[in-house]
Amino acid sequence: MAFEGRTALVTGAGRGIGREIACLLAARGCDVAIGYRQDEAAARETAGRVEQAGRRALLLRADVSDAAQAHGMVGEVLDRWERIDVLVCNAGIVRDGLLAMTAPEDLEAVLRTNVLGVIYPTQAVAAAMVRQRWGRIVNIGSVAGQAGNRGQANYAAAKAGLIGMTKTVSHEVARRGITVNAVAPGFIETDMTRALAEDQVKRLVENVPLGRLGRVEDIAQAVLFLCSPGAAYMTGATLHVNGGMFMD
Ligand code: NAD
Repeated sequence: MAFEGRTALVTGAGRGIGREIACLLAARGCDVAIGYRQDEAAARETAGRVEQAGRRALLLRADVSDAAQAHGMVGEVLDRWERIDVLVCNAGIVRDGLLAMTAPEDLEAVLRTNVLGVIYPTQAVAAAMVRQRWGRIVNIGSVAGQAGNRGQANYAAAKAGLIGMTKTVSHEVARRGITVNAVAPGFIETDMTRALAEDQVKRLVENVPLGRLGRVEDIAQAVLFLCSPGAAYMTGATLHVNGGMFMD
C-alpha cells in the first residue's frame, strides 16, 4: 500500500483511461477525488469502484477548461481532505479534421480543454503541494504531440503544449518536493478510439511494433509508477506508452 493516507484528484475520471487511473490509485491505498464534466452516473460508477477498494471517493463536477470551475474543484478537495498529494490531468477531447476544414470553434475547444484544462488544475493545486512539501503531478499527453498525426493539428498542438508546460512547471516546483511528468499514450482502446473504423484500426496496428492497441491498464501503470517512490528522481519527463509506434 505505497499510497496509504495519500489523496489524489483525477480529472476526466468518469470513464476510459481516467477511470482506470482512479481505480489503480485506490487499489494502492489512495483516496480519490473524481473529476467529471457531465456524466454523473459514470462518475458514480468510478466512485463505487474506489469505495470497493476500501478508499474514500469524492465526486466533483467541473469543466477543467474554466478557470473558476477548475479552482473550485481543487478547493473542494482541500476543504474536505485538507491535502492533494497526486493530481492527474487526464481530461481531454478530440475534434479531428484536416486543418483546412476545421472550424475555429473546434480548434479552440481542443486547445482550451487540452491545454488550459491542464494548466488551471495545476495552478490550483500548486500552492497546497508547496505547503505540503510533496506532490506528484502527471499530465496525460499523446503520441500526436511529438509525432504529429494527420487530421489532428489542434490536438497535436495542444498535446505538444502540454509537454512544454510540464517541463516548465517541473522547474518551478522541483525544490519543493513536487515532481511534474507526462505520459504520452499511443492508440488506446477507449470510447475516444472506439469511433474508428475497423480498417483504420487495422492500419494503425500495422505501425505498432508490439502488434496491438494499448489498454487503459498500460497507461494507468505508467501513471502509478510516476507517482511511486521508484520515480522520485524523475521530473519534467515524458513516458511514451505506445507499443513502440513512436520512439523518441
Ligand atoms: P475519453 O473520451 O474516454 O475520456 C475523457 C474524459 O475527459 C471524459 O470523461 C470526458 O468527460 C472528460 N472531459 C473532456 N473534457 C472535459 C472538460 N472540459 N472538463 C472535465 N472533463 C472533461 O478519453 P480517453 O481515451 O480515456 O482519454 C483520456 C486522456 O488520454 C485524454 O487526455 C486523451 O487525449 C489522452 N489520450 C488518449 C488516447 C487514446 O487512444 N484513447 C491516446 C492518446 C492520448
